[in-house]
Amino acid sequence: MRFETLAIHADGGPDPGSGAVAPPLHLSTTFVHGPASEPLHGHLYVREGSPTQVRLEVALAALEGGERALAFASGMAAAAALLQALPAGGRVVFHRDLYHGVRALALERLPRWGLAAEFADLADPAAARAALGPGTALVWLETPTNPRLEIVDLAAVAALARAAGASLVVDGTFATPALQRPLELGADVVLHSTTKYLGGHSDVQGGALVFRRPGALAERVEELRKELGGVASPFNSWLVLRGLRTLACRMERHSANALALARALAGHPRLAAVLYPGLPGHPGHATAARQMSAFGGMLSLRVAGGRTAALAVAARLELFTLATSLGGVESLVEHRASAEGPGSTTPDDLLRLSVGLEHPDDLAADLARALDSLPS
Ligand code: PLP
Repeated sequence: MRFETLAIHADGGPDPGSGAVAPPLHLSTTFVHGPASEPLHGHLYVREGSPTQVRLEVALAALEGGERALAFASGMAAAAALLQALPAGGRVVFHRDLYHGVRALALERLPRWGLAAEFADLADPAAARAALGPGTALVWLETPTNPRLEIVDLAAVAALARAAGASLVVDGTFATPALQRPLELGADVVLHSTTKYLGGHSDVQGGALVFRRPGALAERVEELRKELGGVASPFNSWLVLRGLRTLACRMERHSANALALARALAGHPRLAAVLYPGLPGHPGHATAARQMSAFGGMLSLRVAGGRTAALAVAARLELFTLATSLGGVESLVEHRASAEGPGSTTPDDLLRLSVGLEHPDDLAADLARALDSLPS
């Protein structure tokens, strides 16, 4: 089955008990068991697993082409569980540009968990080869990255990771499986903040890990999820399931809108750069064209005139709402250095746009007006 079909049918179809066409929502926290706590219907207690969450996991595994998925309360809960599952003493190599919450985990928590964190430019083949030597336990990357929209060659880094005996985890939040399926290119685990495009409507928080194969790592992560309680709630699982059904067509439109804006803005005299992998001048364009079916809905602008000019543009936008997060139907803008705070590695002139599903001409007009009205 093709992705569009799977996105609608992968979660198991109509409910056999009731005939309900839409997925049922089971809010129960506890499930009838036998006298010696034998599960009679597959579930015992919500923190360990519940029907709507499992339905979401079946769908996510199918959409990524993996054999096992685990749904979490947030993307960060998924990230933390995966890192905590690694044996102490290991070394984790992160691509240099990544979600700042994960960077903070790497810098502040990993040492306490007995793990060493290193950063490298995995988009540069020589730097990637040098960084992924023996002794690497895990390689962690986003592509496209948050917020610089850098592109990493998934097949190439997967081969290097395999040669080093390391697992490769790809945070696929920006691309979603509608546009890119890292497991098919050799990754071992895909991570999502389902808060973003998979939910798709800025009304649910969630995370997920999808494993190419079940095994010791997936089991340890599931154990940690049970112990620490980071599992996705039934209602949030249901909202993400609903989002998955429209994911393919939303991603098509997000990508078309972002590409239209990137083309309209490229070369604008008030911009130092338009960061979008769909533009032929982007250093990762050829790789992105190979490993993605479209370039996604995230776009960053570097505003000529630095921080002051970037903040002025953000304040002048009307259709782009000033808010954090991404992946919803409405367009958002954010000055990432301000959002990330002290320790941010994001340039001060960068605005990140989450391009929504509005008409692209209206979005382009909003941006043109905000840029053109900057004092000279
Ligand atoms: N990964 C990426 C790429 C993100 O952008 C985010 C959040 O913005 C996360 C992970 C963390 O997800 P959550 O906010 O659901 O914990």
